[in-house]
Amino acid sequence: MLFLMLCVFAAHSSATAGRENHNLFLFSAQHQQRIDSETLSFYESRDAVTRFAEVQVSKELQSESSLSTGDRIALNLFGDSILSAKVQRSSTNVNGSFYFTALLENDEGYLVLSTTGNRSLGNIFIPSEGLFYKIISDPLTHNHYLLDLQLRDKDILESSPPLLSPETENTDAFLPLQNYNIPKLSDSRDLEVAEIDVMVVYTPAAKAWADNHGGGIHNVIALSMANTQLVFDNSQTLVNLPLVYTSSVEYEETGNTMIDLWRLIASPLYNPFGSSIWGGYAIPGFMDEVHEMRNTHHADLCVLLTYTHDAGGMAKKLSSILGAPHHAFSIVRVQQAAHSYTMAHELGHNLGCDHHKEQNVYPGPTQWVNWPENLWSAGWRWQGDDGNYYCSVMTYASGLYFDDGITHTRVPMFSSPLIHYKGVPAGHPEDGDNVRTILETRHIVANYRVPGMALVSTAGVTDIALFNAVSGGNIDACDDHPVTQRGLVWDTRSFPTLQQHAGKSKEGGGEGAFSSIINNLEHSTGYYVTAYAQNEIGTAYGLQRYFQTPEPLIAHVSTSNAQWTRHNSAIAGGIVTDGGNSEVYQRGVVWSTRSNPTIDNYEGITRDGTGTGTFESKMTDLRPGARYFYRAYVSNYAGTNYGVQHTLSVPEVSVYPNPFSDRLDVTFYNESQQEVVIVLVNLQGQTVKKKPVQQHGVVQASLNLGNLSAGLYFLSIQSEYPFPVSAVINMGY
Ligand SMILES: [Zn+2]
Repeated sequence: MLFLMLCVFAAHSSATAGRENHNLFLFSAQHQQRIDSETLSFYESRDAVTRFAEVQVSKELQSESSLSTGDRIALNLFGDSILSAKVQRSSTNVNGSFYFTALLENDEGYLVLSTTGNRSLGNIFIPSEGLFYKIISDPLTHNHYLLDLQLRDKDILESSPPLLSPETENTDAFLPLQNYNIPKLSDSRDLEVAEIDVMVVYTPAAKAWADNHGGGIHNVIALSMANTQLVFDNSQTLVNLPLVYTSSVEYEETGNTMIDLWRLIASPLYNPFGSSIWGGYAIPGFMDEVHEMRNTHHADLCVLLTYTHDAGGMAKKLSSILGAPHHAFSIVRVQQAAHSYTMAHELGHNLGCDHHKEQNVYPGPTQWVNWPENLWSAGWRWQGDDGNYYCSVMTYASGLYFDDGITHTRVPMFSSPLIHYKGVPAGHPEDGDNVRTILETRHIVANYRVPGMALVSTAGVTDIALFNAVSGGNIDACDDHPVTQRGLVWDTRSFPTLQQHAGKSKEGGGEGAFSSIINNLEHSTGYYVTAYAQNEIGTAYGLQRYFQTPEPLIAHVSTSNAQWTRHNSAIAGGIVTDGGNSEVYQRGVVWSTRSNPTIDNYEGITRDGTGTGTFESKMTDLRPGARYFYRAYVSNYAGTNYGVQHTLSVPEVSVYPNPFSDRLDVTFYNESQQEVVIVLVNLQGQTVKKKPVQQHGVVQASLNLGNLSAGLYFLSIQSEYPFPVSAVINMGY
């Protein structure tokens, strides 16, 4: 069919209870048009167009002043399809783009239109009929066209799998200026609508494509957001998605959406991999300004539009019920952003939703780190009472991804057993209820960025000991809402809060950097610590850091050789060469005549202080003639360790007979390898006899003393080893 007709549908007012609603018309046809080589030249998928007509979008549909919720719009498309739509939501966004979403009555279809300046962009989708229309403008003439695509638009790519943290993601490298505000989980089933602020940034290539082929970048953004809001509204998620900021960002796509997304996530304060290169690509340092924009405009979620061909979109999936503000990023392919539910799909991942469980690639549900009972975060597909096959936005539509091979039409809703589409529940309570997940996570995500809340970063953990460690943080707050208390909270469970923790510190109010001690820890245990800051707006937390206290390490000591001072005492000691990782609270020497003396089983022990280094020990009350085993010991928390065992033989001198007359036998054990001298002196100190001996070991010597006068004498042995001095008595003749 070459000649097309678009009819004006007359507008009349009709009153409803309490409010005046308007019947409006969608288009007035300018003229019918023939497809030739000149028409729609700006449109890249011309071969998917079944028919088209140049149209004029009526002014009433382009302005907030003339259109509001509840208005009815009548439209007659190509003269063969008379439809009526009721406005569900309308608004003017931060760029001045006016958009509305409307539900087609009777047909369960959808009309979404955005207008920026004099250009409008829209789509009409009737899943049960397989009808899909675009309203798009020529970038040069600004003429508008209605395109009938009959779901034949070939340029829609399936979303990519959600981005998971790779094994190599360095979870201890968090140094972000990021917040999370812990919600009251028990309240998350309330009826309060969560305002999840969204920021959309786009590359120069995405803008160029949108301006030239897609109806203008601002319309693409507004229509993407309108379609996304439509999905959240249809699913009764109690979520509003205000667009808080949009900006171009200087970035050139790699062609690999996963790399682009990691580069988007990385910030000056958060490097997901702990190193600059991942997968052969430099990751940090590419879109740092996005993070500043996000903080400035308090955006909870951030979407980057890229011009790419490898994926429809990609997002970091939420897998903690307590949120992940540093992962609240996604990418959507600009070529399909306005005319698909890809953005809703990716934001769904950011809220913890996952794909259908039976997909043969990337199946759901979300594997929660702290919500094990939630096995329902998955998409759903079903056959309606009209016989057609439908699926939710988190489900891959193509039959290629399922063993049954059946392609389903994706309808703008998340899975939920409580919502029906074409007479059939659009979910399952156990296997497909992404709405239930969103209802739980919506307040958490909405609190990622709250105006007036302090921005908190958690410092790296240092000085990690058995029972304590040091961390701290940095606080950035606005002057209107000073921080009244800051500090650290820690726990063995992740995401410690002021309400749930093993310990906390308080470091007073104020801004800037602070340091704080983490104490009363168990050794050999993993902990999560995060900085917090309280002001009148609420409590903000930095990202958590994980650390492990060490295993107790035993200390090491070496044994020093004993030096004699007297025949029954010696000086030994040791050197504590390594104190382990806890305080050395005792050190000394133990000895015994049995091998391997210990601090529990000894004949003698010294206690010579604490700490590392050299110490001296006095071994006393040694028995002459005994052979002792001795060794140094050192005690810390890990236990007691010993140095190498040495032996010590205490010298003994036996003299026989005593009293003597003319001969004295002397027996002793000679430790020395040198010559020693047996010496006998009288009471006047005069040496009366000397006998050198050079024999190691047991020495038996005889002194012939026949000419000595009677009296008291002293026998000694001169050696480097001290010997006891023996008093002997000469009886004379
Ligand atoms: Zn996905």
